[in-house]
Amino acid sequence: MDRTSEQQSSGGRRVRLYRCEGVVLRRRDFGEADRLLTLMTDEYGKIRAIAKGTRRTKSRMGGHLEPFARTNLLIARGRNLDIVTQAQVVVPMSNLRQSESAILYASHWAELADQLMAEEQENRPAYLALIRALTSLDHQRDAALTSRIFEWAILAAAGFQPELFTCTGCGRRIEPGENGISFQSGGVLCPECHAREPQSSAISTDVLRILRVISRGDGEQLFGRSVGSATYGEVERILIDYLRSIVERDLHAYRILKGFDGFQEPVTP
Ligand SMILES: [Zn+2]
Repeated sequence: MDRTSEQQSSGGRRVRLYRCEGVVLRRRDFGEADRLLTLMTDEYGKIRAIAKGTRRTKSRMGGHLEPFARTNLLIARGRNLDIVTQAQVVVPMSNLRQSESAILYASHWAELADQLMAEEQENRPAYLALIRALTSLDHQRDAALTSRIFEWAILAAAGFQPELFTCTGCGRRIEPGENGISFQSGGVLCPECHAREPQSSAISTDVLRILRVISRGDGEQLFGRSVGSATYGEVERILIDYLRSIVERDLHAYRILKGFDGFQEPVTP
């Protein structure tokens, strides 16, 4: 939809309006009573917009702009910053808000979407991945597995999907064996290339199989299936290392999450 397709008269001035569905990724105080929101939307990708007066307790719109909720928005195009003029929650995701660990997972995903998405570039796969992950968490499904599925999806949506089938060193098809994975080369390495590449780390056949299931979009099949915790730990380490190498900064919410869960962060061997 064209951003300027909807217009509304306001005191004789024409105000450009656009409608979309979005999720608040981040919000910070702005001015006396406003908030500056970073939103992931279905049609316009990541955008920033001001929500006026939403820090006042009597603000009717404030309750509709909580982080992680699916919200219908009407936004006015501003000269500098866009302004949220209407907000109506579609799915509040209120279950996930009850658990501190769920909030941290959702914050981790919001942080990744914020870091990896360019502003004002439609990216529907990224939006759908975020909605699916938040819904899964809201339905109290396995948060760690949901997170791995989202981490893969957001990498792919940002164009950084690691190669899993062909050696990124020599182009040979990857067979079960002593394969490696390297962020520098963009994916898996055959045993010979792995041995030559000091920056690569080993990837077991089980871990590669799980990543391939997730990469096909079949990660849902893994819910309730017994997979060793060491295998999942390895899947997690690979995805987190990969994401870190791309965003090139600390994954703040992830670090808190790991401390909160009482787990040690996976360490690169
Ligand atoms: Zn090779």
